[in-house]
Amino acid sequence: MTAPGVLRVALDMPLGRLFDYLPPAPLAADFAIEPGVRVGVPFGRQRLVGVVMESARCSEVPAERLKAVLQVLDPIPVFDRSALELLRWAAEYYHHPIGQVLAAALPKALRLGAEVRASEERWIATAQGREALARGDPRRAPKQRELLAHLVEHDGALADTLSETMAGWRDAARSLAARGWIASTETPVTNTTAPLEIRAPALELREEQTVAVERVCESLQRFGAFVLHGVTGSGKTEVYLRLVERVLEQGRRALVLVPEIGLTPQLVGRFRDRFDTPMAVLHSALTDHERLLAWRDAFSGHARVVLGTRSAVFAPVPELGIIIVDEEHDASFKQHEGGFRYSARDLAVVRARRANVPVLLGSATPALETLHNVAGGRYERLTLQHRAAQAAPPRMSLVDLRTNAVHSGLSTPAIQAIERHLREDGQVLVFLNRRGYAPTLLCTACGWIAPCRDCDARLTVHRSAGRLRCHHCGADSPLPARCPQCGFTVKPVGQGTERIEETLTALFPGVTLARLDRDVVRRRGDMEEVVRRMSSGQARILVGTQMVTKGHDFPNVTLVVVLNADQGLFSSDFRAPERLAQTIVQVAGRAGRGSRPGEVLIQTEFPSHPLLLSLLAEGYDGFAHTALAERAQASWPPFSRLAAVRDSAKTAEAALEFLTDARKLARDASRSVRLLGPVPAAMAKRAGRYHAQLLLESADRSSLHQFLDSWLPRIEELPSARRVRWALDVDPIELF
Ligand code: ADP
Ligand code: ZN
Ligand code: ZN
Repeated sequence: MTAPGVLRVALDMPLGRLFDYLPPAPLAADFAIEPGVRVGVPFGRQRLVGVVMESARCSEVPAERLKAVLQVLDPIPVFDRSALELLRWAAEYYHHPIGQVLAAALPKALRLGAEVRASEERWIATAQGREALARGDPRRAPKQRELLAHLVEHDGALADTLSETMAGWRDAARSLAARGWIASTETPVTNTTAPLEIRAPALELREEQTVAVERVCESLQRFGAFVLHGVTGSGKTEVYLRLVERVLEQGRRALVLVPEIGLTPQLVGRFRDRFDTPMAVLHSALTDHERLLAWRDAFSGHARVVLGTRSAVFAPVPELGIIIVDEEHDASFKQHEGGFRYSARDLAVVRARRANVPVLLGSATPALETLHNVAGGRYERLTLQHRAAQAAPPRMSLVDLRTNAVHSGLSTPAIQAIERHLREDGQVLVFLNRRGYAPTLLCTACGWIAPCRDCDARLTVHRSAGRLRCHHCGADSPLPARCPQCGFTVKPVGQGTERIEETLTALFPGVTLARLDRDVVRRRGDMEEVVRRMSSGQARILVGTQMVTKGHDFPNVTLVVVLNADQGLFSSDFRAPERLAQTIVQVAGRAGRGSRPGEVLIQTEFPSHPLLLSLLAEGYDGFAHTALAERAQASWPPFSRLAAVRDSAKTAEAALEFLTDARKLARDASRSVRLLGPVPAAMAKRAGRYHAQLLLESADRSSLHQFLDSWLPRIEELPSARRVRWALDVDPIELF
């Protein structure tokens, strides 16, 4: 390589361009820094960590203003060529500055300059040190003497070991080192030769599972996108395990992405039971240090399986052999906050294509987008029709809330069904997507309703905690006993999981209940405790939110009650029905996973709603068919492409003003892009700020992106942009 004139460096900043730097001064003329290497650079008065993207002969910056790289941080690139290409692609597709995209792909410790390779700090006694000890030195410093003696005796020691065994050794070491009696070395830890043992699976695959495994295996050396559509309990995880097995046998590695809530100890346990080899597990509850360690295991190749949530799609996996996305429809794969809003599911497909490996998207309820890709021949569908155990699919029926007596949210037919299933030794799952005791606190005398000061929302009653909480901004205050307006007593109205638990306890005395929601699960281990109580049969009824719909296998659950299906039926968001159908099918899938058939009761005030009817009569496929036809007619995705500009400001006017100005700039937009809005968000005020949205829609992707390319730099310059926080969301999955 010839010496570069300048290095072009990406920095974690909201600017789309790269920054030019001279190579570090002492480098020999024939030395070049590879793209993907981190460098420390001066920026104003700060020192920042950036990533070298490329080198160039010359710069547009005048030579006298160019500064030199301060430090080269990596011996080898943190991003190899294919990782850089993927991230460049993502920066372009999501119209986001490359520096911030790279930052999102790195653990924080690495953004701050931590080393890519773990190294060991080792202390040894020098020859002078040995002599000194022999003649009885150091005389008046017992700590130093102890340390020196220890190092002589044991032929040196690791810093980590010393920290554990000898308090205050660092100070002693400093003094001894200053006299030349001891010295330290740093050696990189090489741990790439981890053993691999694959334990024989206990089960024989069923025909459908075998077909799925073989189809994907035919494509192991090249790209192929597969959808594993199998009802809950049909043995998808077993298919993943077999595929990973094949890939590991070839000496390659696997990347497995799971939803936030799906990364349960149960799932990790199943992988560990099958593969006796290091795994890197990446999820949002890790500390920065834990994340660094897991990343290093992935980067060095030490881990042969990398298992993680959304951002693990960026994890380094040398010799990648397959990507698996479990519960691919799950909303947590979409980053919809902050600046860089990406879909990990979609990026997984892009990554697989670039790496020439298969990608498998698994779900009991594939996203409509995914089914559309199947219909268009871009993805291949593999179906698991049958449940692994003998269990038949659950019987679903609707309970009309208008014609049946309702007792604190539970209809008479539901109560009777619970009674029957308990009597027959089954377990019961009651699903309500609302935590807390009650969603409203009302004064029956004057009509006052406890509002959130900072949101267009009511405060939720948390009775056992004695608090009123806002589920949107986190506001938290004591639960008042009386109306602050008129002094009359106040009363909780409506149901949350906490209240349903109370009602069920009163209705079924002596039956042990468990609850699963974010209020119960606060620390690590809480969730496992609830799951254990259900699995062991100690608890007979489980009440919970969305959390109960995923990942757990309770073979004894024979009845699922969905308390309220109606939230999703009449939303302004065109995706709401899809989410509702997915939730119902997922939660219904918890019933009758063992050998006994299950029953599902769905309470609704709209028993003749076409969505519910098609779901009941034809299952998820039937629903998907109807829903896709509706989308086509309204030309919503996947029959069009969307992007949303969202903003928030201190006033509702400012939020709308920026988007209105932005829209005016689009007047000369190509005919193929439609602008809708701006409109205030359905909940306009949230956490004290006002939110609004401008939607962009186009029949094809390229005209939308062409438009964005020319429009975004111009709206950035708008004076009204300075009064708001805004972000672009390409392929948004939640609309106001
Ligand atoms: P999913 O991931 O689709 O929910 P799992 O892979 O968890 O399904 O399988 C559900 C249950 O069925 C598990 O207990 C699993 O051990 C069992 N199972 C999976 N495949 C088979 C098979 N071929 N024969 C017998 N049991 C199986
Ligand atoms: Zn009142
Ligand atoms: Zn609030």
